Amino acid sequence: MAPLKLSPRLRDRLLRVAVLAALPLTGVIAAISSVPDQPPPQGSALVETLAFDAERALVPDAAGYIREERYQRADTPSGLVSRLGLADEEARRLMRSDPGLMRALRPGLTVTAEVDAEGRLLWLSHLGARDALVTVIREGEGFRASEDRAPLETRVLLRSGVIRSSLFAATDAANIPDSVAMQLADIFGGDIDFHRDLRRNDRFSVVYEMSYLQGRAVRAGRVLAAEFVNGGKSFRALNHAGAYYAPDGKNLRKAFLRSPLEFSRISSGFATRMHPILREWRAHRGVDYAAPTGTQVRATGDAVVEFAGRQAGYGNVVILRHHGQYRTLYAHLNGFSKAIRKGARVAQGETIGSVGQTGWATGPHLHYEFLVDGVQRNPLTIALPAAQPVVQNDMDAFRRYAAGLVAQLDLLAIGNLAALE
Ligand SMILES: [Zn+2]
Repeated sequence: MAPLKLSPRLRDRLLRVAVLAALPLTGVIAAISSVPDQPPPQGSALVETLAFDAERALVPDAAGYIREERYQRADTPSGLVSRLGLADEEARRLMRSDPGLMRALRPGLTVTAEVDAEGRLLWLSHLGARDALVTVIREGEGFRASEDRAPLETRVLLRSGVIRSSLFAATDAANIPDSVAMQLADIFGGDIDFHRDLRRNDRFSVVYEMSYLQGRAVRAGRVLAAEFVNGGKSFRALNHAGAYYAPDGKNLRKAFLRSPLEFSRISSGFATRMHPILREWRAHRGVDYAAPTGTQVRATGDAVVEFAGRQAGYGNVVILRHHGQYRTLYAHLNGFSKAIRKGARVAQGETIGSVGQTGWATGPHLHYEFLVDGVQRNPLTIALPAAQPVVQNDMDAFRRYAAGLVAQLDLLAIGNLAALE
């Protein structure tokens, strides 16, 4: 398909219409008059107020109806297209000619479309790969797609929340995107086991980047700074040169992750819904994680596979040999990842298999052991070695840069505490 160059005027109109479509007209008016007085969303102490450009609220001379739809988890292309208001025949034609939309569909993608009274598509637009603004325009009975560099703007957002049931419930309540919740679980994954350690009234603050397209949030970016208060203990993380460090320069990355389970919306809520299998650690020499069959199990540290196969009580089991005197063991697995066989190298966080109930297990769960010199130790309490701190030459620059972010975290922490009372 030959690229079609949009005239700047048309492109501008499409963008203005796309912005309008994000809010119903009454919502636009309400937003203009009441944004400054709105209370912050639940669980959020400081939310950057979106600057709203009143000039954009002028209704363009639209020839049809503008709809905006998000592609959902478990959505189908035809479901999305029909929600946009396309007539059946028109929907079939669009999907047959496929001007790139079908390939771009992924959960979370927002598609804006203008459709006339007969259900004919006038145009649609969405944010494609590498920040391209993809616009599909009717041309006779067919469609043509064009790509333009999307005029994205990055803003820094500050948000905070309090744990009531799970991390995702808290980030949802504070209007924090999933990808930021996942980053939080990653950043603090060496200190906090997000499957077992979370406590009611744990709280967090996060400073992160968000990309906007003409005032509409389209994608979350990196976490720049975060604080997590777990069981009364505060952990702080600052992004520096692609890694996360505590304000004193210590690396947050540890030789071992606290949890051998992949963190996800499904696995994170599981322990609170189902009783984890509770057994005295002393008698049992391992930690059990109740999780749905198929939940991914990850290597907690860089290692070489020492054993992957079947053993009586353990069922399908993987034993990893790490640097120094450490070994880890993962039992009752449903199956192994392809590359996992004796002698294979695995990296920290790499998937080695999935949760099952093979061997002596009464329900799906992961049995995890942490061995030091061949002796089981309690992984929930053992102090773990950390990766390299900020290099000494960088330390002054890091401190100066850290001071600003720490001040923001301090502000958020105060607001968050006030919200707790
Ligand atoms: Zn066990």
